[in-house]
Amino acid sequence: MDHNDLSVIKSQYTTKRQFKNQWLWVFVAGLGITAVCLELFLSDSSGLFWKNTQSPGIVAPPSTEVHRASRELALPTRIVNAPAPVASTPASKPKKDKVDPNAPQWHSITINKGDNLYRLFNRWNIDSKQLGDILQNTKARKVLSDLVPGNQLSILLGPQQQVEKLLYEIDETNVIEIVRTAQGFKATRHQQTPIIHLKKSEGTIKTSLFSAGKRAQLPQNVTTQLEKIFAWDINFAKSVRPGDKFKVLYQEQYIGGQKIGTGDIVAAEFDNNGKIYQAIRYTFPDGTSRYYTPNGHSLQKAFLRAPVRYTHVSSRFSKSRYHPILHKYRAHEGVDLAAPYGRQIHATSDGRIIFMGRKGGYGNTIVLSHGHKITTLYAHMSRFKRHLHAGQRVNEGEVIGYVGATGLATGPHVHYEYRINGRHYDPLKIKLPNAQSLPKKYRPEFKTEANQLLAQLNIGQNIQVAQNQLANLNEQIKVN
Ligand SMILES: [Zn+2]
Repeated sequence: MDHNDLSVIKSQYTTKRQFKNQWLWVFVAGLGITAVCLELFLSDSSGLFWKNTQSPGIVAPPSTEVHRASRELALPTRIVNAPAPVASTPASKPKKDKVDPNAPQWHSITINKGDNLYRLFNRWNIDSKQLGDILQNTKARKVLSDLVPGNQLSILLGPQQQVEKLLYEIDETNVIEIVRTAQGFKATRHQQTPIIHLKKSEGTIKTSLFSAGKRAQLPQNVTTQLEKIFAWDINFAKSVRPGDKFKVLYQEQYIGGQKIGTGDIVAAEFDNNGKIYQAIRYTFPDGTSRYYTPNGHSLQKAFLRAPVRYTHVSSRFSKSRYHPILHKYRAHEGVDLAAPYGRQIHATSDGRIIFMGRKGGYGNTIVLSHGHKITTLYAHMSRFKRHLHAGQRVNEGEVIGYVGATGLATGPHVHYEYRINGRHYDPLKIKLPNAQSLPKKYRPEFKTEANQLLAQLNIGQNIQVAQNQLANLNEQIKVN
């Protein structure tokens, strides 16, 4: 999250009505960008709602990226306002010609490292008794005793430096509001659900996917996702060539018209030397998502190739090798994947834990059963993932333990075995089974979604998305 972006705080004032007005505004905006700018300036000249607390007179515009995204998606560019409190900062003087000197004034600050409420109250000459009164409230104490650098805090102060209201941005989607009442300070937590917009991006490779992604202004985590999605079909280190192209449709999260983050890829296409690969994300009723070809075939294999991000293979699969500790020749029925001590070990496929515990020279070991008579074994773990137990189901990629050197091991590594019907195979070489295609019952819905997403990917229009936004507007703000 870019903390220079508009604060979450300001948008907590947003009501549905204001949002409807905003949509009206979209049409009004068509009359001229000048009006937008003027409105922006007028409505936000307080400076309260920008994190630039030192110069309240200067209105920091939202990042150009947001502007661009907003235009592309026909989003309202107007920024949501608080009920126009008079803004000021500790460094600024009230404008005497306009402002009633007795009116409460807003003070706003972005939390710095080492800031705490006591110190901030001191800076604003607020007596510590009020701080004590605020912290009487359990909810307030819980949140305010540990201020997070980068988050915004705003206080509405009366003429005698009495705290009328305090707003603190807990995280990207939560704000706590503390209000003075006759019965002491009251705290309310407000939550806002971000709206998801889809953003299209495309690029052509000159040297690598990552540099192409950068040129296309693709967030790095999106490029990483793109690589992962096609990793089974395309070797990005070796077979990607200059001229290869990609198109990607990914989620952006917005609150109050302000981008707060990047989400998942929902559709992607990669042209590798003329061969086109396409991926569509499908989310199951249980919330998990997977990527499929437009025909519903999985883009993934049923197994990850390795359970750990290893530095090198320290010992290969072999029918006969000299054992460094036992000093004997014997079969090495798995691979040794060297990795730093403590690194995460992942289940290579969905399965059930059929053994978990100490197993002689294997040390701390987990054995998973995956159906179709396939089992995998992970040995020498320093420790198991907490709360796992034999009989439990795990998902592909789920962390099951951490790299170690328990049992007979000369250094930290994972000894990994892959067995079919009790027979060992080289896990780095075996042809892995394909993951299950999309179950039939989900196909019709998937087909409709896939067609829409592919159309967006290829025409570059975001019409459908804009409609979805309209539908989402009413759910935009949830106050709890
Ligand atoms: Zn081994």
